[in-house]
Amino acid sequence: MPTDRDYYEILGVERTASPDELKRAYRKLAMKYHPDKNPGDKSAEDKFKELAEAYEVLSNPDKRRIYDQFGHAGLKGRAQEPHFGSIEDILSAFGDVFGGGSVFGDLFGTGFGGMYQGPRSGANLRVDITIPFEASVAGTRKTIELKRHERCPDCHGTGAERGVAMQQCPYCHGSGHVTQRQGFFTMSTSCPHCHGAGTIIEKPCPTCHGEGHVTKPAKIEVSIPPGLEDNSRLRIAGEGEPSPQEGGPRGDLFVYIHVKPHDVFQRQGDNLVLELPVSFPQAVLGADIEVPTPYGKARLKIPPGTQNSQLFRLRDQGMPRLNAKGKGDLYVRTIVEVPKNISQREKEILREFEQIRPAVNKPRSTKEGGIFDRIKDFFR
Ligand SMILES: [Zn+2]
Ligand SMILES: [Zn+2]
Repeated sequence: MPTDRDYYEILGVERTASPDELKRAYRKLAMKYHPDKNPGDKSAEDKFKELAEAYEVLSNPDKRRIYDQFGHAGLKGRAQEPHFGSIEDILSAFGDVFGGGSVFGDLFGTGFGGMYQGPRSGANLRVDITIPFEASVAGTRKTIELKRHERCPDCHGTGAERGVAMQQCPYCHGSGHVTQRQGFFTMSTSCPHCHGAGTIIEKPCPTCHGEGHVTKPAKIEVSIPPGLEDNSRLRIAGEGEPSPQEGGPRGDLFVYIHVKPHDVFQRQGDNLVLELPVSFPQAVLGADIEVPTPYGKARLKIPPGTQNSQLFRLRDQGMPRLNAKGKGDLYVRTIVEVPKNISQREKEILREFEQIRPAVNKPRSTKEGGIFDRIKDFFR
């Protein structure tokens, strides 16, 4: 989803920043939040996407002019609207923006544009897996089974039957492209006969039917670190499709991890929230209550006079911090239960209580803040 933060603020530059300053600012921050440096870290990934969006707009003079004049609204619904759907999009768009593409190519190795001059790498693959909440707390290992291409062992990827040499394409004479003249223009297009390969296969390889590759099942072990958030992405380098060219590196495998929601714990960053019903007497008199945590059970003491929707913190009982030490906290939110279908005896007691303490129904001042504000304050 596109950001609504100020693009200059995101890149930490002045509104007068030159293209060079923009590039330097983007480069610095993009490397800091690069997904390969923060594997599985959803917030770094979001930052990385936000940076790309800001840079995409500000590095383009037309888009920047529109943005300066009209802000985000000016770009909305136009061709100029930022459009990155995935990290892969960003890497392939900006991999070579930085003169020679060294930013991502050199530092992070494979695949995405860059200085790499050897054979092309294979295509990336994506696999989605869903893990239970408990596994996102403890971390887990998963074996992913997938089908991917392997270079055909019989023709070594050429697609030609063993021993039968490939022939130069007679149509383009091996160049792979054909040139057409149209008036003043000369147009060069990929050869329609050999599809740009420059060679044709006289007899296709019977094993792969001339494709050059065969489909094979593969098993890949993935280690999922504790604390991983829903919709995180792990990159397993070199486990994607094979290179279309001899000796080229394989693409990467991207594993998208979905975490099943838990029955009682709700995640907010590294913290967890749990709603705990308490009885009216417990709220009034205080109580010592057993509550579940992701690590077992804990005791929670609520004081006399506990309110509905009050938050209590159990330190270090939240999610493990991803790629860091420590844990978040577990917040318990009390819900004071109002009994239904009460007995005659209960009614009598409550009537008696009401006589001693008559109800005061004075509307609450807005200065005390709504319940949502109070929850927000607590997390601040
Ligand atoms: Zn073959
Ligand atoms: Zn040809």
